Amino acid sequence: MSTENREVRVRFAPSPTGPLHIGGVRTALYNYLFARQNGGKMILRIEDTDSQRFVPGAEDYINEALAWLGIGIDEGVREGGPYGPYKQSERRDIYREHVKMLLDNGRAYIAFDTPAELEAKRAEIPNFQYDASTRGSLRNSLAMTPEEVQALLDSGAQYVVRFKIEPGRDVVVNDLLRGAVTIKSDILDDKVLYKSADDLPTYHLANIVDDHLMKVSHVIRGEEWLPSAPLHVLLYEAFGWADTAPEFVHLPLLLKPDGKGKLSKRDGDRLGFPVFPLEWHDPKSGETSRGYRESGYLPEAVVNFLALLGWNPGDDTEVMSVDELISKFSFAHCSRSGAKFAFDKAKWFNHTYLQAMDDKALAELFKPVLEAHGVKAADFADEYIASAVGLVKSRINFVGDLWDNARFFFVAPTEYDPKAVKKRWSEQMPATMLELVDLLEKTSDFGSAALEPEVMAWIESNGYHMGNVMNAFRLAVVGECKGPHMFDITDLIGRDETVKRIRTAVERIVPAE
Ligand code: GLU
Repeated sequence: MSTENREVRVRFAPSPTGPLHIGGVRTALYNYLFARQNGGKMILRIEDTDSQRFVPGAEDYINEALAWLGIGIDEGVREGGPYGPYKQSERRDIYREHVKMLLDNGRAYIAFDTPAELEAKRAEIPNFQYDASTRGSLRNSLAMTPEEVQALLDSGAQYVVRFKIEPGRDVVVNDLLRGAVTIKSDILDDKVLYKSADDLPTYHLANIVDDHLMKVSHVIRGEEWLPSAPLHVLLYEAFGWADTAPEFVHLPLLLKPDGKGKLSKRDGDRLGFPVFPLEWHDPKSGETSRGYRESGYLPEAVVNFLALLGWNPGDDTEVMSVDELISKFSFAHCSRSGAKFAFDKAKWFNHTYLQAMDDKALAELFKPVLEAHGVKAADFADEYIASAVGLVKSRINFVGDLWDNARFFFVAPTEYDPKAVKKRWSEQMPATMLELVDLLEKTSDFGSAALEPEVMAWIESNGYHMGNVMNAFRLAVVGECKGPHMFDITDLIGRDETVKRIRTAVERIVPAE
């Protein structure tokens, strides 16, 4: 099998059975990084042959999630491409033709056994499996005469087409992460490839036929598909395509943050983090599941976080742009064991990306948050919002956190933290604050750098307690004793607003006993 000089073509092949799980997003990302690194193509194929499990809205969700994360698709249902259609339910003719190829070359056969008959066999034979040891005693085209088979087909009987697995073979799956994985063909059953009832192939047939026809060079997918790989190897062989069969990469599972086992939606609910890229409204149950986007994550941070779940760049670099990820990505540094879903790290990445963001861009993200809290963003200059954001951003993990940290730049306090009042607002404090108002009104330069030494000098020359006066000042302007540097706050909100807030506080706050 020669893959050198072969154009890199990878595919992400989700089934639209619900929202894309974060593990699926990582699979899509690794496909994307590998494709871009090699100047190859990234295909998005919708595997919707299981009509029972189809969920309306899931396909749109997949497209929207990948677009949000910047995982670009070169060929797909929306993008088009030379090997379409890219949705399996639109490829029935192709599958029918390929099922016939296997029937004609003797690698597959027709079976008429009803579900009830198979159930009876299972009850009769322990560990029953449809294979070389049992097929002779079942109702299929290998055990019946051609006339019997034809008569059943003519009568319109439902049937399936099964793959004929030859026992006694060593099947080798070459996996770029795991090396050669060998299994005995005896353990495989004669898998159903096609069902006449809905005139649709099963996953196995459709997946192999499409990978071949779409000229896929590397199948990069989750570890849960490793047990299907031997069957896929045998299918390529049965079609005579072994020479161009793709390379396999089965990525390790994402594990629960706090222990062993596969990461599930329940872990997210239990520990309070999303396991889906976007919010999802389940059309059946009406239930809503949280998404990274709606929880305030930046797509770049999610991408960076996911890239490192099962891969490292060979050193301990953590923060990497998509371009850096593309150039550094390598299967040689992918781990074979499961990756713990270290959720706190996702927050850390988000924090880090927010710090690196331009204040103006961050201000744009903050505007909807302001509006949601009843503040008209248009009442404030863009520069003002950007400065406010710049002063508090070191304290935030999410854009939404900006509200708690910067609200006082947009609305004057109406309440004052009672603990701080008790500690700092003594009976003399109103008079002291009115003296401060005097100073603030008279001073010529209200800028942070000039005002700070002036206020300090006033406190010192009067022998006031620095901590008490500064905290009372802050309490009056902010409403509580937290926030960025006091004189940066007053610089931004300006003289009039500062004075007004102190006067209001003097009127409203009832001094502590
Ligand atoms: N349709 C399968 C899924 O839902 C694709 C598995 C594969 O990549 O082969 O993940």
